[in-house]
Amino acid sequence: MTSDPSNDAASGAKTSGRRRNRSGRNRNDQSPSSKPWDVSDFKVEPAPGKVRFHDLDLPESLMHAIADLGFEYCSPIQAEALPHSLSGHDVVGKAQTGTGKTAAFLIAMMDDFLRNPIEEKRYMGEPRGLIIAPTRELVMQIAEDAKLLAKYAGLSVQVLVGGMDQHKQRQKLETELVDILVATPGRLIDFAGSNDVHLDQIEVMVIDEADRMLDMGFIPQVRRIVQMTPRNHNRQTLFFSATFTPDVERLVERWLHEPIRIEIEPDNMAADSVEQRVYILSSDEKFALLKRVIANENAESLIVFANRRDEVKRLYEKLKRDGIAVGILSGEVPQQKRVSTLERFKSGQIKVLVATDVAGRGIHVDNISHVVNYTLPEEPEDYVHRIGRTGRAGKTGVSISFACEDDSFRLEPIEKLLGRKLECVVPPAEHS
Ligand code: AMP
Repeated sequence: MTSDPSNDAASGAKTSGRRRNRSGRNRNDQSPSSKPWDVSDFKVEPAPGKVRFHDLDLPESLMHAIADLGFEYCSPIQAEALPHSLSGHDVVGKAQTGTGKTAAFLIAMMDDFLRNPIEEKRYMGEPRGLIIAPTRELVMQIAEDAKLLAKYAGLSVQVLVGGMDQHKQRQKLETELVDILVATPGRLIDFAGSNDVHLDQIEVMVIDEADRMLDMGFIPQVRRIVQMTPRNHNRQTLFFSATFTPDVERLVERWLHEPIRIEIEPDNMAADSVEQRVYILSSDEKFALLKRVIANENAESLIVFANRRDEVKRLYEKLKRDGIAVGILSGEVPQQKRVSTLERFKSGQIKVLVATDVAGRGIHVDNISHVVNYTLPEEPEDYVHRIGRTGRAGKTGVSISFACEDDSFRLEPIEKLLGRKLECVVPPAEHS
């Protein structure tokens, strides 16, 4: 599955600047433990139609981390994107969270850095790789994944996000070399403006959830960031978005150089692993039904989505009053609190999480059994994002949507996006 790097110059792959080739081996490419790990310890049988990580000729330290994560075969986006991104091409991916896109871009970036170690003197605050994502939660999650993948590779990962201790982030940048910087646009601009971060040595840049950054009004900031990095034919750019509007396409045109396009359809991802139910009911029946779903379904952990912050807050307070272990994720909750809520949800201390769409984007938890759409989203794409919180990483999940007199008109555009009808039923009177 690997592409021949010798063909790359003619086909848009980056060979200039600090990007070199895939033949080099990194001196850091060893396990720090005394018992040397060998790729023969990581056994995955070849399977028809599947790509193994073994087929991609990745450095051993990366294979070791992938083995620890329990990945065996590439997810579709990894299988499609990696052969191109590993040989230096720019890639545009249409993919949601839940598809494995984070590992897809991290593996490409790390492979490049491991094969092309920098021999000359390096300076603080000069990352080799930059990942920009719209929300603090998403940035933290990407950084967590990056640290796991970099575990044996000797690559350092740092995070810049608003709402967290700025002093600590600056201190880390001043005292430790950074290979991979993961950031939200606003905080990164602040650090670049104060000369704490220099982006002119960036070799690989990832722009994640570009459509969401557009929605949130971050594009002027991202544009300034992109301008601080080397020109697009001297850096590799990997660009991901769940949707491709003309505005998103314009960014691709401006920021990427002869990109390879990869599309993972949302319903490919959702169809098999998520059972989708729609209950038709009146708005005043919703809360009682939600409580029944929480109590009676085989619901181990649930995320309840509503459209507005005030709705989310009200729901949270009502559930809490009823003695349910519930947490809240919305833009108005302070960052530290959001991180601790997510941790408690992951560890099972909290059973129900109530969230808005923007906050919900950053939730990467594998064992969510149910997603409840308490109100149907205004944007059909958000429906796909929401239900993608469950049925992840090979597990099955249930999505329950409440459709009432105020919002059932939103079903049609959702069905259009999914390319199929959703079965709407009257909710069961009582669960046994
Ligand atoms: P993402 O779309 O990046 O949010 O990834 C969704 C989830 O899938 C994460 O929990 C990953 O750890 C997991 N994942 C990513 N790639 C693989 C893979 N090849 N095999 C199994 N799980 C994976």
